[in-house]
Amino acid sequence: MRILIDADGVLEDLSQEWVLYLDEKYGYSVEYEDLKEWDMTAAFPGLTREQVYGAEQEEALYDRLKPIPGAPECVKRLMDAGHEIYVVTNTPYEVIRYKMDKVILRYYPFLSWKNVIIASNKKMIDGDVLIDDGIHNLIGGSYRKILFDAPYNRDFDEKALGIVRVKNWQEIEAEITAMEQ
Ligand SMILES: [Mg+2]
Repeated sequence: MRILIDADGVLEDLSQEWVLYLDEKYGYSVEYEDLKEWDMTAAFPGLTREQVYGAEQEEALYDRLKPIPGAPECVKRLMDAGHEIYVVTNTPYEVIRYKMDKVILRYYPFLSWKNVIIASNKKMIDGDVLIDDGIHNLIGGSYRKILFDAPYNRDFDEKALGIVRVKNWQEIEAEITAMEQ
């Protein structure tokens, strides 16, 4: 299968670290579970949009990111099993180098730039399945969908659209295996 995998929140913990980074920088105590909306500014009412999204463009943030537990091993197994793997990410061009060097290539050394698609509209992409935590990428699109659970997507009624919600990479692997049957 051609498997499309989102980066932020699926391969690595950008949101988790972004929250802590803003907390430390501006003296807040917001937690990842407090992120009830996709727009990060909703959790930091005293900060400007420039402050919140400016932090996303700072190189130091990317030194802190870590893979989601189990993801590197699982992606490697899927590749070794013959699946085509594409990381599909809507990363701003200003920071794609940080994300590649400090996170993706560091923790997923079996991937290369050839495995990466930068896209603001993932629904244009031809794949068999997309794993994503952003519901806007799961409404429409010709691929099958797996929703990666996050506090900012819990209000989404994925079952109404026949989408499976998973909480970890073990569940992703099980879903992919089931799709192959
Ligand atoms: Mg994401």
